[in-house]
Amino acid sequence: MPIDATQLYDDQNIFAKILRGEIPSKRVYEDDVAIAFHDINPQAPTHLLVIPKGAYVSWDDFSARAPDVEIAGFIRAVGAVARAAGLVEPGYRLLANIGQDGHQEVPHLHVHVFGGRPLGPMLT
Ligand code: IMP
Repeated sequence: MPIDATQLYDDQNIFAKILRGEIPSKRVYEDDVAIAFHDINPQAPTHLLVIPKGAYVSWDDFSARAPDVEIAGFIRAVGAVARAAGLVEPGYRLLANIGQDGHQEVPHLHVHVFGGRPLGPMLT
C-alpha cells in the first residue's frame, strides 16, 4: 500500500532495518550520507536503490528538512552509484516515488536507479 508522504518517520520501516544491518541486503555502495543496494524485485537488469542514512520519509521531507551538505552528498552518491554500476554510457533512469499518488511503498526516501537495457519512453 502506498504511504502518506507527510507521515512522521517510522524507524521500524524496512529500509531503516537495512540501514542498521538488521535485515540483509545486497549492498553495492556506502559513504557518509548514503547507502545503495539491489532492489529485491528488480524491474530492469540493473535496479538499485539509493537511500540517505538520515531519517527522511520522502523526497518532500528530505528537500524540506535535510541540511544542504546531506542533500549535496546524496545527489553525489546517486551519481557515484550509477557510475560504479557502469550505467553512464549508454544511460540510465532515476525515479523517486512520493506519497499516495506516487505509489511510494517504503516510508524512507529512496531513489530507484534503473539500467542495463533500453528503458523506452517514460511511463506514468
Ligand atoms: P517504492 O514503491 O518506490 O516505495 O519502492 C519500494 C521498492 O523497495 C520496491 O521496488 C521493492 O521491490 C523494494 N523493496 C522492498 N523491500 C525490499 C528489501 O527488503 N530489499 C530490497 N528492496 C526492497
